[in-house]
Amino acid sequence: MTRFADFHARSIHDRDAFWAEQAQRVDWKVPPQQICDYSHPPFAKWFVGGETNLCHNAVDRHLQDRAEQAALIFVSTETDQEKTYTYRELHAEVQRMAAILQDLGVVKGDRVLIYMPMIAEAAFAMLACVRLGAIHSVVFGGFASHSLASRIEDASPKVIISADAGSRGGKAVAYKPLLDEGIRLSAHKPDKVLMVDRHLVAFTPVAGRDVDYASARAQHMDTIVPCVWVESTHPSYTLYTSGTTGKPKGVQRDTGGYTVALASSIPLIYQSQPGDTFFCTSDIGWVVGHSYIIYAPLIGGMATIMYEGLPTRPDGGIWWSLVEKYKVNVMFSAPTAIRVLKKQDPALLSKYDLSSLKALFLAGEPLDEPTAKWISEGLNGKAIIDNYWQTETGWPILTICNGVEKAPSKFGSPGKAVYGYNVKLVDDQTGEELTGANQKGVLTIEGPLPPGNLQTIWRDDQRFVNTYWKTVPGKLVYSTFDWAVRDEDGYFFILGRTDDVINVAGHRLGTREIEESISSHPNIAEVAVVGVADQLKGQVAMAFAIVKDSSGLLDAASRLKLEGEVMKVVDSQLGAVARPSRVLFVSALPKTRSGKLLRRAIQAVAEGRDPGDLTTMDDPAALQQIVDLIQI
Ligand code: ATP
Ligand code: MG
Repeated sequence: MTRFADFHARSIHDRDAFWAEQAQRVDWKVPPQQICDYSHPPFAKWFVGGETNLCHNAVDRHLQDRAEQAALIFVSTETDQEKTYTYRELHAEVQRMAAILQDLGVVKGDRVLIYMPMIAEAAFAMLACVRLGAIHSVVFGGFASHSLASRIEDASPKVIISADAGSRGGKAVAYKPLLDEGIRLSAHKPDKVLMVDRHLVAFTPVAGRDVDYASARAQHMDTIVPCVWVESTHPSYTLYTSGTTGKPKGVQRDTGGYTVALASSIPLIYQSQPGDTFFCTSDIGWVVGHSYIIYAPLIGGMATIMYEGLPTRPDGGIWWSLVEKYKVNVMFSAPTAIRVLKKQDPALLSKYDLSSLKALFLAGEPLDEPTAKWISEGLNGKAIIDNYWQTETGWPILTICNGVEKAPSKFGSPGKAVYGYNVKLVDDQTGEELTGANQKGVLTIEGPLPPGNLQTIWRDDQRFVNTYWKTVPGKLVYSTFDWAVRDEDGYFFILGRTDDVINVAGHRLGTREIEESISSHPNIAEVAVVGVADQLKGQVAMAFAIVKDSSGLLDAASRLKLEGEVMKVVDSQLGAVARPSRVLFVSALPKTRSGKLLRRAIQAVAEGRDPGDLTTMDDPAALQQIVDLIQI
């Protein structure tokens, strides 16, 4: 087996040869003439001169060897539907969708906005767009009109594809009124809206604009729509970041680089092979859903499960029952989902036959040790592999590449820099590289960013350069805006976001470190720590915690007692300087729709300021609780 260190070094020092080899994992109509053009940093062009098609690589090319194999398994516990599409059937559905889009005037380079629940038609829609060279912009189905309107304006789509409704916890959530309002609020109007009618909620189509998918599909049962070959650098899609730290950024992705990056990740990171079954529990509205529900598993010739529903309905065993039923080999989820399951009966984990499962990958947020341990034990010691990445990168920056060389995971660490990523820790003040063990710095990536990473911010090259590449003094490097340390073995530990560092009387503390410490108290289920302005100390830490068992917390005295206990834990682990000035108990924490803690909003209200852009927030009541607590 190759040594990972050599493999990684080659990807950086012999970059073009390395990626030329990886590029052979995908089909090219015209092979690339140049592997990487980095003549205009920080803009990197990958596989220049090559022509390919993402849909061809995900669907068509498998028809020869695996036409009758499962490709897409749609499971909805919301509508009690289950349907498996073979590669042959998926190919037919994608062509039907593509034919409809063609009828609606969509050609290469046009934008198509997809505002849909987790149904098979959403996958057809994404694949049909890239088949035609159209650029999709998927907007998470939970977003309301205001967020939707700003994304419609930014993408200026010719066509929007939507549905009458999503469903959550068995209740229909109407999309159509939100969509109509979103279009009304937007300065840009789409020519057409293609409506998938699930018959969950009645709606009135807008005459001349809305097109019914079922009737349009019936016209195209046998229509053949060839893939449109596009340049490797042709954009495949745009997608927004989660908006955890501010206004979301519209990431633009290429075609060739993305296809190669995903194709390589399947064997090298996810240790999967054609014919395997992949179950990623994310949503197509997020980058993990784009890469690991739709594109990568299909590029890899696998079956992918697309799940609509909650992880706890009908009960907390639903995901494991799917692992048993579909013999899932690899699962991919998020720490936030595992924390939800942790509150369920642990017996649900041993009820099903999970012998097919090789590994569980988790991404999106720090994987705290108690959660990692809980799931690792629950899954009988199966590999739990943390992935650290961003919407911007499209695939992991840090993880353990067990497909290159087997290596142990360390709790609390996502692992090492992935091949292709020239990761450097730097001092944010001086820009100096930190090479020693356990030095805390900003995690940066030296250009060119590897294939699959963002090309730019959609329609805003300047914002791309200024946001990501201008923050480290004296250096043109990509900043992730996350703090990290690297241990003696080269394993990185993410300490939190650069704007989550607080300064208490001259001591710089990561809020995440304090959160980790508080979480180790046996009665704390989840906690958010923010820095709050303080006249004396500059800033002080303030903690908002959810308890596991609140039965003993009914009066102020018992709350104070627990607060004191938590403070003692922090004192003993990190020192009194990190001790939060208050530990307040809440029943929920404000999060983005993708499940990330909205620390900036908590911080703002804790300081009595306006919380700013909240369009990606999930549950406003959670923030209101904090507003109320602060006012007491
Ligand atoms: P925005 O950029 O709009 O503020 P966001 O950064 O939350 O939002 P995403 O691209 O969805 O948007 O999230 C990427 C971020 O999530 C990373 O920069 C990091 O802070 C965090 N993250 C992702 N995976 C991990 C992980 N495995 N461990 C720790 N943090 C992670
Ligand atoms: Mg970010």
